Amino acid sequence: MSASALPAHREFLGHPLGLYVCFLTEMWERFSFYGMKALLFLYLTKYHLFNDSDGYVLLGTYAGLAYALPLLGGMIADRWLGMRKAVLFGGALLVLGQLGMAYTGNAATGSVGAAVRDGFAIQVMYLSLALIAVGVGFLKPNISTIVGRLYADNDPRRDSGFTIFYMGINIGAALSSLIVAYIGENFGWGYGFALAGVMMAAGLVQFMWGQKHLMGQAEPPNPGALQTKVGGLPLEYSIYLWGILTTLVVWVILQTKIDFGPLTALAGGHEVTLTEVVAVVMGIGLAVWFLRFLFSGIGPAERGRMIVLMVLIAISALFWGIYEQSYGTWVAFAERGMDRSTFGIEWTAGQTTSFGAIYVILFSPIFAWLWPRLDKLGLNPSLSAKFGWGLIFCGLGTGLLGFAAQNPGADGLVSLWWMVAAYAILVLGEMVLSPIGLSAVTTLSVPRVVGMMMGAWFLASAFGEMVAGRFGTWAAIEPRADGSFDTAAAMAVYADVFLRLMWIGVAAGVVMLLLTPWMKRASGGAR
Ligand code: GLN
Repeated sequence: MSASALPAHREFLGHPLGLYVCFLTEMWERFSFYGMKALLFLYLTKYHLFNDSDGYVLLGTYAGLAYALPLLGGMIADRWLGMRKAVLFGGALLVLGQLGMAYTGNAATGSVGAAVRDGFAIQVMYLSLALIAVGVGFLKPNISTIVGRLYADNDPRRDSGFTIFYMGINIGAALSSLIVAYIGENFGWGYGFALAGVMMAAGLVQFMWGQKHLMGQAEPPNPGALQTKVGGLPLEYSIYLWGILTTLVVWVILQTKIDFGPLTALAGGHEVTLTEVVAVVMGIGLAVWFLRFLFSGIGPAERGRMIVLMVLIAISALFWGIYEQSYGTWVAFAERGMDRSTFGIEWTAGQTTSFGAIYVILFSPIFAWLWPRLDKLGLNPSLSAKFGWGLIFCGLGTGLLGFAAQNPGADGLVSLWWMVAAYAILVLGEMVLSPIGLSAVTTLSVPRVVGMMMGAWFLASAFGEMVAGRFGTWAAIEPRADGSFDTAAAMAVYADVFLRLMWIGVAAGVVMLLLTPWMKRASGGAR
């Protein structure tokens, strides 16, 4: 598409107005997503008295589904619905889901091992999580695609447009972890979740108002086809109905565990969740498609680049598996083993998740400046080297917390500053892997399947979330009957698990660095 193919439009600060519409929509979507995520583990274990393992696994499977469904949401928008309508529908599901979380019912009574829970409230929660997962599936991939479509193919502002957009994601995440977590933990879980829902609604209203600035770039590919009747219902409404039915299916999937011998044995004696099975099936489907695509008459250079891209995508799953500890075991560690008061403020455990997003905001301009500089000097690391360093930093950040857990202060607790430092290292890893990976998808993929590969990228995040849930179970600890924890014993567990994860990250990163010459050759030497 050439620049002249885009209709006349208004600009603000050198970018199309539509960019800011997408920025604000995704900012409020991530505000609600991450605010809720910061609270979820604590809410499950402290309010509904889930045991740690179940808490970690649900956090992982729910977030996993939220990252797996964009594969479908992106495809539906590409083929039929168009991005704008998909965002509106996804946004509506998200508002319902986030507000649904605000219904908390009664707190569980008894102890973790023998809790009496409010079954109705828990069902409302599962349904709300399903609405959010499907909502993300419709909204997240499509709001990002719209950003790309606001720029002509050769528009040099595209990268900075995406950088601004990624900042929006992290401004939303930082604000919500500070505000939603604070309100949820101090005034009542329901108030925190409700705030997430209200701000998502504000984001949706903003999108409805601003959609006129999308320059018609997010419309259905064939509007007439959407009106054709399928079983008496226009296709458009059938899609919405399908989305709602999917939500009901996800509601069931989220809470179903499979006790099937061979699978359980594969999972090291743990029950397997249906979510994990669904994700594995999607992964196998993707692998079959990918292998067929490799031998569908594409040239050797293209094949090499696609293989390199798939290796990078697979590696990113391990990265997210370690990185996402920040919403699980790190929150548990902050809650149970950390002195969180500093500057005269007692920070909540959920609030510590804001550090990551704050670092992304701080580091983004530095990295945006650094890459072209390194490039000029011929020192820009190759893609796979960046991924290697991403894993190493991710491991080292986690390892630093492990070191802190080994060396608590006189009160048996660890200072909040360890967390501040650990996040800095972790986010260095994120900066050399996450935005770089998104850009690699668009440069290494054969153009006609770039949407599919973007879905694959997010599916890897989905696996990462689930792996994170499983890693989390290593750090599961039982509270005493009164709900308190043996701090010294907990510290020993966290130290052990964080150091184990460090070695996994560092070892995988080193292997990646060793593979770099091969990866460079396979991708044609360019990256
Ligand atoms: N933090 C980024 C976002 O929320 C990337 C997350 C991911 O790909 N796992 O968009």
